[in-house]
Amino acid sequence: MKKRCTIGLLSAMILLCGSSAAWGQASCLSPIPAHNNASEGDDLYSPRVCNQANIDKFWRDFDFDRGDWDEGFGYYSVCDRNRPLNRTFSSLWLLLNSTPSPTTSTGDFSGNFLRWAYNYSAREIDELDARCGGSEPPLARTQWGFFVNDWTRLYPPFFYGYGVPERAGTIVHEARHADGKDHNCSGCPRDASCDRRWGDNRANTYQILYHWWFVDSGVNTTNAMKRRAQNRANNILATGFCESTSFRLNYYLPDFYFTRVFSAASL
Ligand SMILES: [Zn+2]
Repeated sequence: MKKRCTIGLLSAMILLCGSSAAWGQASCLSPIPAHNNASEGDDLYSPRVCNQANIDKFWRDFDFDRGDWDEGFGYYSVCDRNRPLNRTFSSLWLLLNSTPSPTTSTGDFSGNFLRWAYNYSAREIDELDARCGGSEPPLARTQWGFFVNDWTRLYPPFFYGYGVPERAGTIVHEARHADGKDHNCSGCPRDASCDRRWGDNRANTYQILYHWWFVDSGVNTTNAMKRRAQNRANNILATGFCESTSFRLNYYLPDFYFTRVFSAASL
């Protein structure tokens, strides 16, 4: 049963921040791993996240709990783009708002996958938790099934190894696992998280399909973000299937800003 939490996170932060220094920090966040907020998209997305309505919605839809996101993961600094919680929220914002007509209810599955990938992820993922994960943590892991506690855990490589678009794709990937679809093959080029074939529609296919829609039709973003999504999709296409896939995404995604600067400088 999915718990429902209605805490106002910003309010909690304001009430409690005076004594936040007294709380410990998880070992994997001391120091915070290296990252680049400009190239990874956090400078673009983080300012959009930080309002109470967004935070309450994400908190409720993915059943976040304070005990899974304190100790430096961001519960007490929810607008800090260097912290895991804000970096996760940015990817949820992308999932929800990259369509020209975002859904206004979690039960709306009309339109294409770009439009309902957020609702699919919210429906299938029981709860999103942050963890350190030991010396070689994965990106993310999902546990599901009868007689077990269902959860999806996110680890430091998710928060700091990838940009906002790739994080969104990973959430879709984990949602497919939470929907009861494990990986069904071993021995693909990347040696882990292998699916047998594209047409099985398992986690890698869903992840790539989301990136594909985002690159093709995504709004409220930049071509730099789309290039990240396209590269991630093509990497998984090349390495994540035991029966190799023959196609790749090949969208032309110029950086118009630099094109303009270069043109002006040439005059
Ligand atoms: Zn997987």
